[in-house]
Amino acid sequence: MKTTSPLTLTVSAVSALALAACSTSGTSTDSPAGGDAPTLTVATAFYPLQFVAEAVGGDHVAATSLTPPGVEPHGVELSPATVRELSNTDLVLFIDEFQPAVEDAIEATGVTALDAAEVIALDSAEEHADEEDDHGSTDPHFWLDPALLADYAIAVGDRFASLDPTNAADYAANASALADELRDLDEQFTAGLATCEHRVIITAHEAFGYLAHAYDLEQVGIAGVEPDTEPSPARLREIHGIIAETGATTVFTEELVSPKVAEALAQDSGVVTAVLDPIASVGDGDDYRGVMLRNLDALRTALACE
Ligand SMILES: [Zn+2]
Repeated sequence: MKTTSPLTLTVSAVSALALAACSTSGTSTDSPAGGDAPTLTVATAFYPLQFVAEAVGGDHVAATSLTPPGVEPHGVELSPATVRELSNTDLVLFIDEFQPAVEDAIEATGVTALDAAEVIALDSAEEHADEEDDHGSTDPHFWLDPALLADYAIAVGDRFASLDPTNAADYAANASALADELRDLDEQFTAGLATCEHRVIITAHEAFGYLAHAYDLEQVGIAGVEPDTEPSPARLREIHGIIAETGATTVFTEELVSPKVAEALAQDSGVVTAVLDPIASVGDGDDYRGVMLRNLDALRTALACE
């Protein structure tokens, strides 16, 4: 099923920034097409937005990620050099109220930026959380609903087209192809999670509110929308009770958040742990769709779906 395609192309943040810096000179040996240099340089806040920028931009866009692979994106810090490089890019794709360092860098450089909240109706964090402390901000994790990411791809295509009208038809075609793929993925989730013994998912942090809403699941987060919040003993007792009451089989962990609390909770409750990946970053040769299909498998197993 999975083949190497331009969609899976990942460029390390460092070499990609170098590429971004030299692309204005008109020559680049790293050009994806091996021919013309990309027209637009786009810095993305973290992996899922880079995935969209690369798929929609094709050969015309050099897309980088400000969050290096393996770094938890909420608390990412940017070096002064990275911030300086940002002013050489044509566009930054980011999500407001998610990564303060990225927001500060955009403000400091005055670079053109597209906030996902301008093109996607983001839900309030409160709507996706049962923790009291998440009031008043939006939940950034929309990319975990493939149908929302499809809408975002179309909006990114429109923005690329307005910055680079010469290639507008290519951006529209690429965006439409990616959106179709993401809507297929959405249909796989809908079908795969239609009939399940359980519908409650216990997650490491509340990254899966959009996903839960899209597929009629109920998310219970050990931590809130911010992964670094420590759960109180009362919160852990509450989740322990939810597991006992609902017969949940699994406490989900993430690669980039310490699994200690989740593992202790699972052990105390006599259930297993499994990874549910919020796709903050991906490993070599992996991509958004591959990780989402693994997430679907993990959910189907945990929820005992038909
Ligand atoms: Zn998160």
